[in-house]
Amino acid sequence: AAAGDPAQAAAPAQPGTSQPFPKALVIVGPSGVGKGTLIQELLRRDPQRYAFSVSTTTRAPRPGEQDGVHYAFTSKEAMMAAISRGEFLEHAEVHGALYGTRRDGVQAALAAGRVPLLDIDVQGARQVRASGLPALLVFVAPPSLEELERRLRGRGTDGEAQTQRRLGAAKGEIRSLNEKGLYDYLLINEGLGETADALARIAARAAAGLDAEPGHVPERVILEDDADGGGEG
Ligand code: 5GP
Repeated sequence: AAAGDPAQAAAPAQPGTSQPFPKALVIVGPSGVGKGTLIQELLRRDPQRYAFSVSTTTRAPRPGEQDGVHYAFTSKEAMMAAISRGEFLEHAEVHGALYGTRRDGVQAALAAGRVPLLDIDVQGARQVRASGLPALLVFVAPPSLEELERRLRGRGTDGEAQTQRRLGAAKGEIRSLNEKGLYDYLLINEGLGETADALARIAARAAAGLDAEPGHVPERVILEDDADGGGEG
């Protein structure tokens, strides 16, 4: 087998079983990069292996979104109270609404031997990393900012101002790749099939409870904007 084959390396087993403790799989990346589609593809390929982590949010449901399926929709008061009771593994304010991951959902999935799939923002990723939860963190980047812009416009859901906001946010998110030890893997989404294959290989490591292989995040990521050495504006 190939050196990277998860089946070839031993991971600690759950007591009384030969089952490894899985790790969570955290997927981070700019809006429009295809995180949602990638997660759907993993779930389609192997629904038993994964458990989508349904986040809690205070934002309003969009058309077609179901409570408890896409998100658990709640009020700001209820969410703040649950946060203060320590029920959230991580939480963050994104675009003026609160979003968070409950501890119980993630723990239940891990206890069932499944890999929780978390679609969260950079702030949440930092908290998951700091929490000590066994997890592999993957950043999904677009091939270029031009391509991201094209995809955002292609969705046709946003106005020009919103597209510009998302592009600005994307630059900040991409710069978080320079935070040492935050992510385990960088995937550049050139095409759904290939990226889903790469993500599935990482997910197999998570399912087997294995650590990340080193060297899958570049030492330094520099955006074109950064190259001219401009200040903070
Ligand atoms: P949207 O409102 O478009 O579904 O999500 C907006 C952003 O919130 C996305 O970047 C998404 O990854 C992030 N997000 C969704 N759920 C969570 C969560 O539970 N925690 C954090 N920190 N971010 C989340």
